[in-house]
Amino acid sequence: MSKYNKLSYIVMFSLLAIMACADSKDETEENLSQTDPQQNIILIIIDTLRADHLSCYGYHRNTSPAIDSLAAEGTLWANAQAQAPWTLPAHATIWTGLSVRSHRTLNPVPIMSESGEIQKLIYTLDKDLPSLPVLLSEAGFSTRGIANFTILSDVYGFDAGFDQYSCNEDGAGRAGISVDSLIIWLDEHSDERFFCMMHLYDVHSPYSPPEPYNTAFQEDPDTEYFDWEIHGDEILNKGSRDIAIDLYDGEISWVDDNLSRLFSWVRENSLEDETLIVVISDHGEEFLEHDWVLHGETLFQEVLWIPLIMSGPGIERGTIDSTYVGQFDLLPTLLSWAGVECTSYFDGIDILSGPGGDRVIPSSGTSNFVWTERDQMASTVYNHSKTIMMNEMQDFVSFDLVNDPVEQIPLPGDSAGIEDVLFYWATPQRGFPGFATSDEATIQTLRDLGYI
Ligand SMILES: [Zn+2]
Repeated sequence: MSKYNKLSYIVMFSLLAIMACADSKDETEENLSQTDPQQNIILIIIDTLRADHLSCYGYHRNTSPAIDSLAAEGTLWANAQAQAPWTLPAHATIWTGLSVRSHRTLNPVPIMSESGEIQKLIYTLDKDLPSLPVLLSEAGFSTRGIANFTILSDVYGFDAGFDQYSCNEDGAGRAGISVDSLIIWLDEHSDERFFCMMHLYDVHSPYSPPEPYNTAFQEDPDTEYFDWEIHGDEILNKGSRDIAIDLYDGEISWVDDNLSRLFSWVRENSLEDETLIVVISDHGEEFLEHDWVLHGETLFQEVLWIPLIMSGPGIERGTIDSTYVGQFDLLPTLLSWAGVECTSYFDGIDILSGPGGDRVIPSSGTSNFVWTERDQMASTVYNHSKTIMMNEMQDFVSFDLVNDPVEQIPLPGDSAGIEDVLFYWATPQRGFPGFATSDEATIQTLRDLGYI
């Protein structure tokens, strides 16, 4: 069976599988009896952290000694891909184990005023989808969630399943405060089986590390803040790229120092043999590698290459796994690790159970929160070949990520990669049977290729 046929079957059966999971109370009670009460999970999501700015991923600066130590005691996935280039859809993938096309956070939901007028359109996590906090809560975990950006608030559906959930909506919540809050909660719940999710926003722009981290990688103590000045499609302060990176790295150092306090708490409470610690990010950040900055506008590796590190019982120590994996693998992996069985469909797989074989790893997103079919973009990685569809879905470009990891040398036309992207793009969304795209040219291409 080709990889496409496999995907077709997976999509066809996904809805039935999701329903089976969500409605099975007996199964949940059975799960409770199967779980080991001594296994806890701490999930740390560092917003906007690109993998190659961590020392353990080969960065030339010592930005991350605490995370490096975690990696040395556990497993580092060297080729983890974000499924989306910005916060909301990427977190929805972590929550649901689904690709963006499946969990549908590209679809805008109208927020109505009392008089019935549309105030704004937002994208929300579908609360009917099985999610990591809900499934772990149902399996008996005490759950605590800490987030630091409005997009992860209860309005967007990310609080479901948490016994206690707090979200600093303006993004001003600092790693120090978040770690303090988490340790207070852990002190009160350390004798329970717990799942904690802590989302840290410090590394996100503007880059303004607190003293002394602002001078960790540049010498001027008066340089405390950097933000890009963008006018239309022009970046006005391109010449300050080095300062931007210096302060971005300072933020990583500040976050890492605070995480060292959390890791110390786990050791001091003798929970390291019972607690899985996971570090991941939602997406990376551009620093003009392809003439743009920040994230959300392109699908190059500076935005999609993310860290993924796990350390704890059952995790191989000091291991680097170079398999291509995705954010959507986290949920099925954590459920399996925790012994929680679920018959729901996930796009991801349990990556602790050995290599997943040939898989297409997809990513997609919209530009600027504005939803039209033409604003969207998609990419796929198959083995180490990557293809990106962009510019109103008319342009395709492919790269060999082994020989050209910074994506500077486009390969000659790669029809296999183009087919992968088009197939992903046409995958029906859950609850929306039929092909997701209405673009006639794309549909015709799929007809020509025999998919329709
Ligand atoms: Zn983000």
